Order: sequence, then structure tokens, then C-alpha cells
Amino acid sequence: MILLDGKYQSAILRDILSKEIQKVYPKRPCLLSIMVGESSEALSYIKNKEKSCAEVGIHSQHISLSADCTESSLLETISEANLNPEINGIILQMPLPKNINQDRIVSSIDPNKDVDGLHPLNLGKLLCGNPLFAPATPLAVIHLLESYGIPLSGKKAVIIGRSNIVGKPLSLLLLQHNCTVTIAHSKTSYLPNETLLADILLVAIGQAKLIDQGFIKPGAVVVDIGINFIQGKLVGDVDFNSVAPLCSYISPVPGGVGSLTTTMLLQNTWKAFKLQQCP
Ligand code: NDP
Repeated sequence: MILLDGKYQSAILRDILSKEIQKVYPKRPCLLSIMVGESSEALSYIKNKEKSCAEVGIHSQHISLSADCTESSLLETISEANLNPEINGIILQMPLPKNINQDRIVSSIDPNKDVDGLHPLNLGKLLCGNPLFAPATPLAVIHLLESYGIPLSGKKAVIIGRSNIVGKPLSLLLLQHNCTVTIAHSKTSYLPNETLLADILLVAIGQAKLIDQGFIKPGAVVVDIGINFIQGKLVGDVDFNSVAPLCSYISPVPGGVGSLTTTMLLQNTWKAFKLQQCP
């Protein structure tokens, strides 16, 4: 069994990225994060992103709006950021308060600055096999698989989870890499019927250690995307100790996909910067 080491792959990518960004000095890409309402968890998430940006030479800006801000004031903030040539990428801290229409807000971001890849135009381009910006987590999964030389073409990939941010875009990227893709979810009648056929099993459920050895085809590649906390300890959706002995490759939590996700966001920001410099 070989560990898919996202932390190591992330360090390699960040090194390459910072060298590329140094070449355009004193110019620097800039990533703006917008948050509505106070949340210590979201703030620490944003602080981590800012730290990662600084590490590779990306400038970061942050706008915090009060929890009771109106949809129109958020739209105005985004519109200003869309028009500001100093800002190359815009990310929104989700979820937004219930009084705000999330779809309308995401659709208001300039697709060329939508480095989270959630604008309908970017999701549409991904569907057509010609992505501009794909969401960071699915990109992280593909990078992790490719960096270990794991063949994708012709393989049966089973994804558990069908969210717009992980499962669905991941299915499209895998399809682009010529996998035969199945998406399972909470209404799938009997999960092992699907997972036991998987050459590559990708798990994005959000339930700690749900997937054990009974779901795994011997020799499968298992990618655990889940982030859960048990008594303050970070664990994935896969019961690592039970599953690992059966796998050819497995991504750990922590140290797997999560370690690469922010790096993919940094890469998208760099891509946005380059596109905006030389459209
Ligand atoms: P969502 O809650 O949006 O989606 C969860 C999906 O899992 C849904 O499609 C749901 O099915 C399915 N599901 C839930 N329970 C079961 C079950 N018992 N059997 C089969 N399917 C089930 O979560 P996200 O996609 O946003 O995130 C999934 C996990 O990935 C979370 O742990 C999250 O923290 C993590 N994550 C990790 C990231 C990273 O960078 N590593 C980034 C983003 C998320 P249905 O649609 O039918 O409800």
C-alpha cells in the first residue's frame, strides 16, 4: 500500500508556483476573500489561506460584511471587486446567511475571477470538457492521482457524494480523464454494490470513518476527501486502519487531499492573473 502524500505534493507545487510568481515581480496576483458574518472557524480558514498566499507571493485582501448585510450590498461589493484591476481572484466564504440567494451571488462574480470555479459559466465549461476554473478540491484529487502516475483511462471510478463543490465536478474531471464514472449518494440503494467494483474509490460524504473494508475491492485506489472531527481530532470518511491493508494507494486524512486543496486555489489565482494580464 502506498500513501498518497498530499502534503508533499503540495510543497512541490508551491515551490514551482512561487518561482513563477517571482518572475513577474513587482507585480503580484491578488486574491480577495469575502465573508458575511462572524465565525471564528471561517476566520481561521481565511487566515490559513492568507498565510498560504503569502508563502507563494500572492497578495491577499479580505472584506468582512456584517451578518445582517443585504443581498444588494454584497452584490455591490462583488461588482466593485469585479471592476477592480488589482483583484485577480474572488472567493466567497460559504455558507451565506439564509436571507441571501447564494446562486445569485455566485453568478455575480466575474467568471474570469471565479477562482473557486463555482460560477455557472465555469461549471458549464467544465461540463463541456473545456474548464477555465474547476473547483479546487476536485483539482487536488486529480493532481494527487496523476502525481503518483496512477492510470485513469479506462478505470472504473466510483465517487460517493454528489455536491456541486466536490462530487459533481470531480465526476466531470474523471470523465475527462477517460474514467468510467459512477456517482453514489445517500439514496443509492446498497453502496457496496457500487464501491466493490471501483478501481478508484473517491469518498466525499462528511461522515467519519463510514467506509470500511467491506466497501473495498482488493487493490483499489482510495481517495478520502472527508473532513470530520472526532473529539477535536481530524479524521476522514474512510476508516483508514481497516481499509489501508486492502488498497494499492490510499490518501490519508490529514495529509491527503485537504493539504492540496488550498494549493489548487493558489494555482487558479495565478492562472486568473495571467489570463487578465494577457487575455
Ligand atoms: P455535502 O454535504 O454537500 O455532500 C455530501 C454528499 O454525501 C451528498 O451527496 C450526500 O448524498 C452524500 N451522503 C451523505 N451520507 C451518505 C451516506 N450515508 N451514503 C452515501 N452518500 C451519502 O458535502 P461536501 O461535498 O461539501 O463535502 C463532503 C466531505 O468532503 C465533507 O466531509 C467535507 O468537509 C469534505 N470536504 C473536503 C474538502 C477538502 O479540501 N478536503 C473540501 C470540501 C469538502 P445526498 O446528495 O443524497 O444528500
